[in-house]
Amino acid sequence: MDPGIAHNGWRLNTPPDRHDHRGTSEPARGHGHHGGDPSVAATELGLAVAVPAKETPDAPAPADGSGESALTRRLKSLLPWSTDTDPVSTLIRTHRSIHSDADPGIVRHAYETAERMHRGQMRKSGEPFITHPVAVAAILSDLGMDTVTLVAAMLHDTVEDTSYTIAALESDFGPEVALIVDGLTKFDKLFFGEAAEAETLRKLIIAAGRDVRVLVIKLADRLHNMRTLDARSTKSQQRIATATRDVLVPLCDRLGIQVIKRDLEDCILKALSPSGYALITEYLTQREGWDEYLERARSAFTTELKNGRVDCKITVRPRHLYSIWKDTVAGRHSEPHDLPRLVVQVEGDDMDCYAALGIIHGRWRPVPGRFKDFIASPKNNLYRSLHTTVIGPDGRSVEVLIRTHEMHLSAEYGVAVNFRYPQGRAGFGPAARAEQLDWLQRVLDWESAAAEPGQFLASLRCDLSEGQIIVFTSTGRPVLLPSDSTPIDLAYTLSADTGNRCIGSRINGRLVPLSSILADGDSVEIITRDNGADEGGPSEEWLDFVKTPHARLHIGRWFEKRSETVTIANKVRLGRVAVGLALRQHGRGLASDLPLVRLATQLGFPDLETLLVAVADHKVSANTVVDRLIRAVDHSPH
Ligand code: MN
Repeated sequence: MDPGIAHNGWRLNTPPDRHDHRGTSEPARGHGHHGGDPSVAATELGLAVAVPAKETPDAPAPADGSGESALTRRLKSLLPWSTDTDPVSTLIRTHRSIHSDADPGIVRHAYETAERMHRGQMRKSGEPFITHPVAVAAILSDLGMDTVTLVAAMLHDTVEDTSYTIAALESDFGPEVALIVDGLTKFDKLFFGEAAEAETLRKLIIAAGRDVRVLVIKLADRLHNMRTLDARSTKSQQRIATATRDVLVPLCDRLGIQVIKRDLEDCILKALSPSGYALITEYLTQREGWDEYLERARSAFTTELKNGRVDCKITVRPRHLYSIWKDTVAGRHSEPHDLPRLVVQVEGDDMDCYAALGIIHGRWRPVPGRFKDFIASPKNNLYRSLHTTVIGPDGRSVEVLIRTHEMHLSAEYGVAVNFRYPQGRAGFGPAARAEQLDWLQRVLDWESAAAEPGQFLASLRCDLSEGQIIVFTSTGRPVLLPSDSTPIDLAYTLSADTGNRCIGSRINGRLVPLSSILADGDSVEIITRDNGADEGGPSEEWLDFVKTPHARLHIGRWFEKRSETVTIANKVRLGRVAVGLALRQHGRGLASDLPLVRLATQLGFPDLETLLVAVADHKVSANTVVDRLIRAVDHSPH
């Protein structure tokens, strides 16, 4: 589970700085992803409720005195929403509240283009298709993404599903938007068959490596599809939810966009375990005294920290349904299992977080093994916070997350924070962004190495696995690895050469087998054979236990190279033996390779070896070679 990730009942479009944070006053959101119901879906988006337009041509003139003609009203009544609560205006307003200098005209233009292109198309729910790209753009405007992102989101399905072409899109909206939409356009299933899905994901990742907005739009796209999953058959629901769980949620986690990840996970739970979803929902509505206790704990913590002179704001952080469900299942609890949770947002920097921690631990006894310092060792998505659980008021366990305001925004919005605050607040800047996208670069490395998309997908899944540990090399350098990694994984993470030359390992000073599982905090020494020693290399059985795609890739590559040279050398030998045997049957022999070399050229082979390999592969028979050879030798001028 991810303890940093709370569900506090926020709407995406509420900037955290302006929210009252009283998550408890509102039953945890996410209980009702009634995708089929447009009014609910709209509310979930933080949009005005989409009331179907009821105006008719003979309805009285609008009270706002706009003096619309009957025709205008009639046209408006054909739109999927009433114009007073027009979601496009709403999302533009949200967008401008975050990016005050944004040009609303271009977003409107993108909407109009998409609306025209998709006109007549319907979603499975029966709603006009245009509601989908608008909802996706709304999610992204809530997230605080830039104008280009909203424009691309409006148009994201046009090239795939309408007659609009990438070329037309580029001339209408520019190359930046065109590149993003192209990255989001699926490969044709009819043309690419089974491989289409994997190839599409590969394409998406490559495009995201160039522009991460591609991936952010993809996540918003999937979120809206997941919210409206009810319109699909049970079988499709399960297929889509499973794929979302396996690939998109981990990608979302990597980008650190928790506001989207929480929603995705609750939708997945609903689709894959309706009974689990119902159980948790019921538990959340039925439990008694929960909110009262949290309020009491919150005020006790506030008083204590105030007395300790730590300036902070404490909020209650209910967890999302999926997170509670996962803990319940993992802990084999007979009843849903949840811990009261508070977030302490300190005014100040890292040191103030530790000061707050000291005060809390001084007053309430910490539960052993529950303290985690993600400030000193951030997660791979750059998540930073202190986590602890203490025996709080009334002797009940309370989970506490301590972070600065910047850490909090990063934890919620992840990579999107760079777009939300383009001027760069403390802690968000080009450097942070570059670091966050490091892994995408790494993913692209295997992409170029992986022969087929299936292999690439497997690597990607493994790299995205949630658990991770930090180990220290003999020089004290911290290295982040997926959990269950072995010394071999560490060796290949250090360098391909270190991996290939690895012959032993010490964990915390003790010699161990190379298949040993590393634990968080281990100090690991990799023993390698001398640089000069050429023989030896990775062992094939390492493939049975290595965890990282990186190590697997390099070991595989090493053997591929060798097996290729071994077989070719063997084949050359085999071919030569076959030709020699055939010659002997004719009572002949060869004094030199020269006639064979000449024959190889005559037969169109680049060299003798290639001819001999062809003989070994039975592409050319040894007898044919020998017949031609004898004729050539006998007819030569000598
Ligand atoms: Mn879409």
